[in-house]
Amino acid sequence: MQTAVIGGPKSGRAIILPTDADELTRWRRRHPAYTYWCGTQLGGCGNELSDRLYRDKVCHFAHRPHTSCHRTATGAASADHLFIKDDLAAWAGRNRLKWRAVARDLGSGPGDAVDFRVGTTRRQHVRFQFSRLAHAEWQRASRWLSGEAVTLDWVFGPGTAQTETMEELYDAYGYLLRFRFETHGAVRRIRLRAEDPRRSTDWVPLDACAMTPEGLRIPGVEPRRRSGAGPAAGASAGRGGERTPASREEQVRAVREALLNAARFRTRPTWEALAKTAGRDLLRLSDPDRVGLLIAVERTGDGEGSPLLSAVIRTGENEPPAYLGNVMTAVGCGTPASAAVLKRWCQRETDRAFAVYGVPSRTPPPRLPLTPDGQLAQQHSAEPMPQTIVHVQGGPVPQTPRRKPESQRAGVPLLRDTEIRHALRDARQRRGPRPRYAAALMARAEEALTRLPEPQRSQLVAEMATTRRWLDSRPDTPARKPRKSRRGKKASDAKKAATAKQPDRKRKTQRAKKARNSLQGARPLPGFGKAGPKKRPK
Ligand SMILES: [Zn+2]
Repeated sequence: MQTAVIGGPKSGRAIILPTDADELTRWRRRHPAYTYWCGTQLGGCGNELSDRLYRDKVCHFAHRPHTSCHRTATGAASADHLFIKDDLAAWAGRNRLKWRAVARDLGSGPGDAVDFRVGTTRRQHVRFQFSRLAHAEWQRASRWLSGEAVTLDWVFGPGTAQTETMEELYDAYGYLLRFRFETHGAVRRIRLRAEDPRRSTDWVPLDACAMTPEGLRIPGVEPRRRSGAGPAAGASAGRGGERTPASREEQVRAVREALLNAARFRTRPTWEALAKTAGRDLLRLSDPDRVGLLIAVERTGDGEGSPLLSAVIRTGENEPPAYLGNVMTAVGCGTPASAAVLKRWCQRETDRAFAVYGVPSRTPPPRLPLTPDGQLAQQHSAEPMPQTIVHVQGGPVPQTPRRKPESQRAGVPLLRDTEIRHALRDARQRRGPRPRYAAALMARAEEALTRLPEPQRSQLVAEMATTRRWLDSRPDTPARKPRKSRRGKKASDAKKAATAKQPDRKRKTQRAKKARNSLQGARPLPGFGKAGPKKRPK
């Protein structure tokens, strides 16, 4: 047999014996005082075991001669129900949970299942199922367990769930939670993931998971509300009302909660996924109704400057739904002029939401400001470029526009359209190479004219006219590009040198490239992979 407990027959300290002779030799040297037992918590006889070292076969534990033992589970996985308690204890401790874990004998041994309970009043329950469970048994257990808990999560070991059970869980929640164990030296550690018929998340340690008011959450899956048609809901009918269409207030709260959860796990749900967790009645909403609901969600938010949660919603094609533009407008974030602007704005806002609500949280990058005409406002070149912040591991990094407008290539500061009029006036009064600068500004102003609304547009036209007269009167005015020239004015000579030094521009281009590259990587799951603090002595 491969597993035993250390210290006494009733001990819960499990060990998996190193199978390799050299490893076992080192193990013995490190732990000369350990005694090994065919523990009762393993379904064993309670007698002492010896650790047999073999060079020609796998090392194992063995009873003393003439011992009669009826222990059935003796393989590498036979102490996993004890190892899981170590993992749960460490995880619950780090998360300050009030908890209790109890192993259940469902008929085949003490390791058939482990029930993990959290909380005192609002109790939450996670059932780790180690042995195969008939569908009818599962239904019965679900009814019973959910009767005494506000949330119930089933986590199944390999091969323990029947097909009907899996189908019922997919249907209710969209996925099924699984666990498996990995051997790390003389102990085993649990890993969890969510599976559905088409795909699975990565295996993650408990530390990557969270106990939320809706139950156990694994990164990479949409959280779900327990109130659906889920099997666990049957026993909670006493709480009532949840299957009838939710009130507006409840809808708003549920959607907000679902969006917050998505942000916490750095995932972007589709509307359909949201409906799965926040109420299936959402599926019946038309786009305008969705907008109305999302506006209400945003208005219950944390106020000015907090991330627009709706921005995390995506379509099946990973685009922001077009109606999000209406939500933005309604809550005062501006009106994006194009799908591309909407997409970039939402990417940044999603990133901000992930930063603020993710666990652990981070300092969010600034919101992308929109110009009155719905373009992304250019950041002033003197400001530190937020695009260089690549700590945003949870989401895409905003990009600078693929093709830079002409005027930016001429050394003009990145101005908002509304700032150009004043910049033109200043340019006529400033020292240095005024005409060159002013000419570049003029090109920028012409671009802005196509976007500015009235009355700003007329004001800018007037300012441009003044500047044009001023430029024309100057001998050092640089040549204008013929294409841009409206009056066919002959260029004044020699000043092709409108190409001032442009260190700024070069640097920005590089940054833009870097930012774009960082989009290529897949989104990593939030921090895990660290071993717990101290494991128990081995
Ligand atoms: Zn035994």
